[in-house]
Amino acid sequence: MPVKISSGTLFGIEALGVEVEIDLSRGLPAFSVVGLPDRALQEARERVRSALVNSDLPYPRRRITINLAPGDQRKEGPQFDLPIAVGLLAAQDMIDPANLKDSFIVGELALSGEVRPVRGIIPLLELALELGSKQFIFPAGCKSQIPDAGSIKFIPVTSLSQALEILQNGKEIPDWRPTFKYSDFLENEKISSGDRESGTRNRETLAGNYKGIRLENIKGQQRAKRVLEIVAAGQHNLLLIGPPGSGKTMLARALAGLLPPLKPEEAREVAVIASAAGINDWMEGGGIKRPWRDPHHSISMVGLIGGGKTLTPGEVTLAHQGVLFLDELLEFQRNVLENLRQPLEEGYINIVRQSYNVRLLADFLLVAAMNPCPCGNFGRLDKECKCSHYRIADYRGRLSGPLLDRIDIHLEISALDAEQIVFPRKKGPTTAQVHQRVLKARKIQQERNGGIWNSALDFQQLEDICRLSQKEKHFLARAFNKLGLSARAYDKILRVARTIADLDCSEELNADHLAEAIIFRNLDRS
Ligand SMILES: [Zn+2]
Repeated sequence: MPVKISSGTLFGIEALGVEVEIDLSRGLPAFSVVGLPDRALQEARERVRSALVNSDLPYPRRRITINLAPGDQRKEGPQFDLPIAVGLLAAQDMIDPANLKDSFIVGELALSGEVRPVRGIIPLLELALELGSKQFIFPAGCKSQIPDAGSIKFIPVTSLSQALEILQNGKEIPDWRPTFKYSDFLENEKISSGDRESGTRNRETLAGNYKGIRLENIKGQQRAKRVLEIVAAGQHNLLLIGPPGSGKTMLARALAGLLPPLKPEEAREVAVIASAAGINDWMEGGGIKRPWRDPHHSISMVGLIGGGKTLTPGEVTLAHQGVLFLDELLEFQRNVLENLRQPLEEGYINIVRQSYNVRLLADFLLVAAMNPCPCGNFGRLDKECKCSHYRIADYRGRLSGPLLDRIDIHLEISALDAEQIVFPRKKGPTTAQVHQRVLKARKIQQERNGGIWNSALDFQQLEDICRLSQKEKHFLARAFNKLGLSARAYDKILRVARTIADLDCSEELNADHLAEAIIFRNLDRS
C-alpha cells in the first residue's frame, strides 16, 4: 500500500493541495518522481537521499516511486522534501501511517537532514486549515511568521530526525503556540482612535512603530505636508511634479507613516502576499506593516502586473494595502502603465495566460512623481529652464489619460521652498499629529459613506454627499471659467474638497474647502 501525505504548492499568492504518494516496489533500486515536477523536484531526490543517509536513517534499496497528485497541476518549490522523506520512512514501517493521516507536512531538507524554511508558509497554513488537517508540520525557521489562526496543532521541526521522533510517538509533540493573531490589529486601531487620555501613550507607540521618514524631520514643504494629510485621509492618488532634489521621494515615504493601522483582514492579506513573495521582513513576529513599493521605471509588464510561467505576483499586488510609488512616471513604458487602470479602478488585477486565468489583490494608494519639464529646471530659482512652453506642454501631455483620470491631486513643488527661506524655523505638524487627524477623517467617511473612501465614491454618491448650495455652485463656476479647468476636474475637486471638510470635521462643504481643492488640479488648466 502506498503511503499518502498532504502537502501543497504555491500558485501566485495561494497554495494548492498536493498529495504526495510514496510507493516502494521490487526491482532494481531507482528513484523516480512523477506528476509534472519542476527542476527543484528532481533535485529533491538528491536532497532526500543525503538527508536520510546523513541522519543515520535507512534509505530503501528498492524501486521508489513518488507521485505528486493531481498530475495536471504545475508544482514548484522544495517544500516536498520533508513529506517525501517522512513518506519513505513510513513506507519502511518506521512510522505508523495513522500518525500521518491528518498531517499536513512542508519543509525543505538540507543535505545534513536539517529542515529549512520555505516560501509561502502562510498560504500553506491556510490550505492545511481548509483541508481540515489536524496537525501542521513545518520548518521551525518559519515560526515567527505563523499567525494564531484556526484550530490546528502546530509542530515546528528543525530536523528530519526530530520529525521522525515526533511522528513515531505522538505524545512527545512539543507544545508551541504562535505569538500573534490578526485580531491584534483591531486592538491597535481601537486604542489609537479611542479615548484621548489613555490614547496618548499608545499613539506614541503607533507612530514609533513606523520606521520611515517623519514629517517633523522634513524642513519646510508646509504645503506638501498638508497635501499628504489630505491624501492619507481620503485615500486619494497623488501626482508630485517637481525638479530633481525637491524631495519627492522623501515626501512619498513620509506618507506611509500617516496611513491608518491595518485592520485584521488587511493584515492577513498583507501577510499572505508577503509570505508568498518571500518578503519576510514585513511580518516577523506579527509586525505586519503597510507595504511601500517603488519599482524602477525599467520594470517589465510581468514585473509590475504579475504573471509569468509559474505566476508571480507583480508590484501592484506587493503594494496591496500600501503605497505604490512610481518615480519618473514618464520614463515607464506606456503600455506597462496602461495596465494600472484595472487595479486603480477595481482594487484587483486579472491575469489571463494560456495556462491560467487568475485574479490577484491589488488595492493600493498610487503616488507618482515626474519632473516639471524635460530639463527638470522649470520653477527652480537657482537654475534656468530652457524648455519652450510648447515643449513643456508636450512633455506633460505624454501622461496617460486613463492613469491621470485616477489621480485626484496634483502637487507642484519647487526645489527651494520659499517658505523654507522666509520662515526657516516654522514648525510644521508631526507625523503623530497628522496621523490622528487622518484617523478621525477616515472614521467620518466610514460612518457616512458605508466603507468607501471619498476617492472611490461614484459621481451620484458624490453629488448626494456634497450637496452644494447656490453660493458654492457659483463660486465653482467662476473658478472653472477663470482657471480654464476641464470637466474632468469637477468630480475630483468635489472628492478632495469633501476630504478637506472631513479633516475639518465639517458636515457642510463650503467655499474654503472647494478653494483649497481647486489648487490641486494644475494639469487640468488650459
Ligand atoms: Zn526645463
